[in-house]
Amino acid sequence: MSKTDKTITVLGATGSVGQSTLALIREHAEHFHVHGLSANTNWQELASLAHEFHPAVIAIADEGCYQQLKQAVRDCSCEVLCGEQGVETLASAPVDLVVGAIVGMAGLGPVRAAVDAGQTVALANKEALVAAGHLIMPLAKQTGSTILPIDSEHNAVFQCLRHEKRDDIQHIILTASGGPFRTLTPAEMKTVTVRQALAHPNWSMGPKVTIDSATMMNKGLELIEAYWLFDAGLERLDALIHPQSVVHGMVGFCDGSWLAHLGIPDMRVPISYALGWPARMGWQAKPLSLTELQHLDFEAVDEARFACFALAKSVLGSAPEAAVILNTANEIAVQKFLNEDISFTGIAGLVEDALSAGSFGITADNFAAVSALDKEIRQR
Ligand code: NDP
Repeated sequence: MSKTDKTITVLGATGSVGQSTLALIREHAEHFHVHGLSANTNWQELASLAHEFHPAVIAIADEGCYQQLKQAVRDCSCEVLCGEQGVETLASAPVDLVVGAIVGMAGLGPVRAAVDAGQTVALANKEALVAAGHLIMPLAKQTGSTILPIDSEHNAVFQCLRHEKRDDIQHIILTASGGPFRTLTPAEMKTVTVRQALAHPNWSMGPKVTIDSATMMNKGLELIEAYWLFDAGLERLDALIHPQSVVHGMVGFCDGSWLAHLGIPDMRVPISYALGWPARMGWQAKPLSLTELQHLDFEAVDEARFACFALAKSVLGSAPEAAVILNTANEIAVQKFLNEDISFTGIAGLVEDALSAGSFGITADNFAAVSALDKEIRQR
């Protein structure tokens, strides 16, 4: 391998971000060697990826899928791991880059394992930082792990901050498309269906983050994520609705200058940045035509209409247990909405109730306690 080539592990390889990552790797096959791939239950797709990318190790989180996966890759030379522990073992195996693209709290253990091993982590799994940013960021400092955000807004801010001093930053703005229900009244929001909520106007993503975008919990989670990633202080962080999804993040500095990052709404833009980092890596991106766009609009988020966004903001800067509760309760509520057990507006109601119930005396000051609180909320 040449100096610029990279070994890479993709956690959550079968999901939307995982597939976008592998599409870029396919385009630059000569520069990447896939060491490891993981999935939860989709052993068929994982087996197919193993045949294509020839990883040394694959891991399936759901132990019930292990035998089928093992059988499906019997002609490959890869090692097959399973269970949460298997995914964490894969995350800690030394590579040049670990892509953290598992959805939800399930990503926390593997992200912690990768950071603990001092790896460079391209992080999409925002929930890991929301629930445990107060533990992950100090751990990264201690182990020398670098975290490269690939959530598009954070990647945008990361790019704007590349050569800047923390003290010079006055504002960090994340943009939000506003999702499919940006213009609905609260009464209209009560009756939206799962199918309507899954139809995002600008981005193609996995189901959980698509629903989070529709409730705007996603933007709230992202503010918490930005708080930990950029150590910028609460008063400097905000979000604006920008329906065109072209400007992804902006930073204002002490001298009145603003830097903004623009790009087409395609996750391969931020992912390619992390894959190439510290260099840029070209790919066949669709051109961005500003003249075709004509407008770049920005408006404040209406917190009265987007209760989930307001709930997430209320948690910013408070004790870490509140973020764990918000994150887990939201995950449960989104699943209930997808199963049609609760209404769209019921998501905020369930999260609010969980926040009111408190942390059951658990102090989330270590990873085991964060997991214990997560389990307690799920059981109740
Ligand atoms: P998907 O639902 O498309 O994919 C999730 C991946 O995680 C799949 O590979 C899935 O495996 C795996 N997974 C699910 N549950 C578990 C588990 N319990 N243990 C181990 N692996 C598991 O999600 P996305 O790709 O949309 O999102 C991934 C993360 O990236 C999320 O945190 C999201 O917020 C963030 N993100 C996503 C964006 C996007 O464009 N999609 C944009 C910005 C951020 P299986 O297929 O077997 O179920």
